[in-house]
Amino acid sequence: MLKLQKNPNIDDPIENLYIHVPFCHKKCGYCDYYSIVSQTADYESFLEAIKKEWKITKNYLEKNHNPLRPLKTLYFGGGTPSVLSPQILTQLINYFESEIGFASDIEITMEVNPEPIGQETVLAGIKTGVNRISLGFQAKQDHLLKKIGRLHSYQDFLRMLDLIREQGIKNISCDLMFGLPDQNIEEALISAQTLIDLQIPHISFYSLILEENTLFYKKYAKHPELLPSEDSEREMYRQLLNIFESNQYQYYELSSVAKDNYFSRHNYNYWSTKPYLGLGPGAHSYFNGIRKGNIRSIKDWALDPWKSAEIEEIDFDLAMREYAMLAFRLNEGFSVEKFEKRFLIKNPFEKELKNLIEQGLIVKDQQFEQYYLNPKGLDFANLVFMEFL
Ligand code: SF4
Repeated sequence: MLKLQKNPNIDDPIENLYIHVPFCHKKCGYCDYYSIVSQTADYESFLEAIKKEWKITKNYLEKNHNPLRPLKTLYFGGGTPSVLSPQILTQLINYFESEIGFASDIEITMEVNPEPIGQETVLAGIKTGVNRISLGFQAKQDHLLKKIGRLHSYQDFLRMLDLIREQGIKNISCDLMFGLPDQNIEEALISAQTLIDLQIPHISFYSLILEENTLFYKKYAKHPELLPSEDSEREMYRQLLNIFESNQYQYYELSSVAKDNYFSRHNYNYWSTKPYLGLGPGAHSYFNGIRKGNIRSIKDWALDPWKSAEIEEIDFDLAMREYAMLAFRLNEGFSVEKFEKRFLIKNPFEKELKNLIEQGLIVKDQQFEQYYLNPKGLDFANLVFMEFL
């Protein structure tokens, strides 16, 4: 068998672009994403800086002969993309369509907060090609939304959902959070049932994580007793997964379920360790076997987006390990056949896989030589990932 000691990511075509919009109307207490609070940011300068970063990136790709293809996915994340003016969002979409080109079935996602401000931008985005909306929901209970610092209420969420659906958008994803201060299991389940009843086809559900440099970290790191315990968080996860599965949602990734094939194609690309470009302060990219993290300062990033980035080389060995870790995030699990096809070597993880089976965290499908997390592995997925580090 040919031994290719090169990260295969280097030769994969680049078909996925993420744009980080670093503005929010207010900072939520738990949020660690890079964003600045602004009602009146200079969006024109932001657009120019994105174009500048793209030109530098394009030069790099051309010099390194990295294959760039019409985009299959374009994702506006943040921050809050709906704070941009309608004109700037439209210009961004049109610019990348003319620079890179769009595949005929491109998925264009926009994260939207259900705040009254920004509706015009959402409408302009949909008119220009946005065909998937990731709508902030978090919880049904207004007292919890208030507690975590969200600006919207459940009624605001419903109004925005109607508006989006009136435009013909079916591909909608909502975030649901659990493990919140003062949240009990019943409330988390009511939130889940609400999304099910509203026929939301894609749901991301994840627990609160105390990130350093957030208000919540200051408030709760020394008082974990004010948050649901780890056991009750695990119980929430199990019960949420259960309610989704019994309502015909397919669990396809640790924190994501979907109905009728409404998977996130953009995120699936990340989990498959395929290349992606990320533009904007705080954005990450992975192409040509390097991972690039942009600086979390709009000012410094705008001055020189490439120079200010952190760059890490992902060599062959690390690429294999990351592939194995991410494969276990997906319900399709780690397939020996797929692995060997991608890396062109015999599966080097027999010892790790055996250890994980002995610890009762994964199971093996003998017929297809495929390994999956079992229910205990779902609870302790981090132990599975660590085995490959
Ligand atoms: S709106 Fe989103 S990005 Fe902005 S602070 Fe809240 S969670 Fe973070």
